[in-house]
Amino acid sequence: MSFQVEGKVAVVTGGSSGIGLAAVEILVAEGAKVAWCGRDEERLNASKDYILEKYPHANIFTKACNVLKKEEVQQFAKEVKLNLGNVDMLINNAGQGRVSNFENTQDEDWMKEIELKYFSVLHPVRAFLDDLKQSANASITNVNSLLALQPEPHMIATSSARAALLNLTHSLAHEFTQYGVRVNSILLGMVESAQWKRRYETRSDLNLSWEEWTGNIAKNRGIPMQRLGRPEEPARALVFLASPLASYTTGSAIDVSGGFNKHL
Ligand code: NDP
Repeated sequence: MSFQVEGKVAVVTGGSSGIGLAAVEILVAEGAKVAWCGRDEERLNASKDYILEKYPHANIFTKACNVLKKEEVQQFAKEVKLNLGNVDMLINNAGQGRVSNFENTQDEDWMKEIELKYFSVLHPVRAFLDDLKQSANASITNVNSLLALQPEPHMIATSSARAALLNLTHSLAHEFTQYGVRVNSILLGMVESAQWKRRYETRSDLNLSWEEWTGNIAKNRGIPMQRLGRPEEPARALVFLASPLASYTTGSAIDVSGGFNKHL
C-alpha cells in the first residue's frame, strides 16, 4: 500500500538532515511535491543535491529559513505556494535538545528552550494555516520526544518544553477539526543523528563498530530493542500521520522509541 501522497504538497522544517531528510526522501519517493528548509545553506544544498541525484524528476523547493524568525517563515510559505502550490501537509521537525539539569540551566537557557519548542511550531502553523484550510487532506505533524511523558533530569528544560508541546498539539488538533486540519505528533526515543555520529568519532574504544557502540548505549540506557532508531523509522511514522492513510486520526501521538516508554 502506498502513502497516497502522490501530487500532494508537503513542507518539512529542518529537512536538510536526519529525520527531516528521511521524511523528505520518503515523500519524494511517493510522488509528493516537497519543500524543506534549514538554517545552514550549505547543508540545505547538500540535501537538495542528494535528493536530486536519487530522484532527478523530483518536484522540490528549498530555502534557507530559521523557523524562529516569523518573517522568514512567512516568506518561505509564500515561496512554497508560488513554486509548488497549496500546501497539504506540514511537518514540524526543526529543532534540537538541550542537555542540562536544574543546576546548570540558566534563565536564558530556559527562555531559549521554551522559544524553540513553542515557536518552531507556532510560526509555521501561522504561516501555512490558511493554505491548509483549503486542502482536502490537511495535516500538521509535530516531531516530539518521549521526554514529554517521561522526563529525564539531565534534559530538564527540553523535557518540560516537550510536555508543553504535546499539550499544545492536542489543543491545536481540537481547534482545527473545524477546518478539516488534522494535528498529530510522534514521540521519539533515541534516534541516530549527526550528534551521535560526532560522539562516535571521539569514542574512547576505537575497536567498537558503530553498531556495537550504539548498541552499548541502548543497552546501558535500557532500550528494550537494544539499538538506537534509524532516521527512516520515525520518518515513516511521520509520513503516515501526515498522509490520507491517517484520515481518522487527530490529537494522537505515535511512540517511536524501541519500547523505551515505561508508561501504559
Ligand atoms: P538533525 O540535527 O540531524 O536535524 C535537525 C534539522 O533541523 C536540520 O536540518 C537543522 O538544520 C534543522 N534546524 C534546527 N534548528 C532549526 C531552525 N531554528 N530553523 C530551521 N531549521 C532548523 O537532528 P534529528 O534529525 O535527530 O532531529 C530532528 C528533530 O527530532 C529535532 O526537533 C530533534 O529535537 C528531535 N528529536 C531527536 C531525537 C534524536 O534522538 N535524534 C530525540 C528526540 C527528539 P540547520 O542546523 O542547518 O538549521
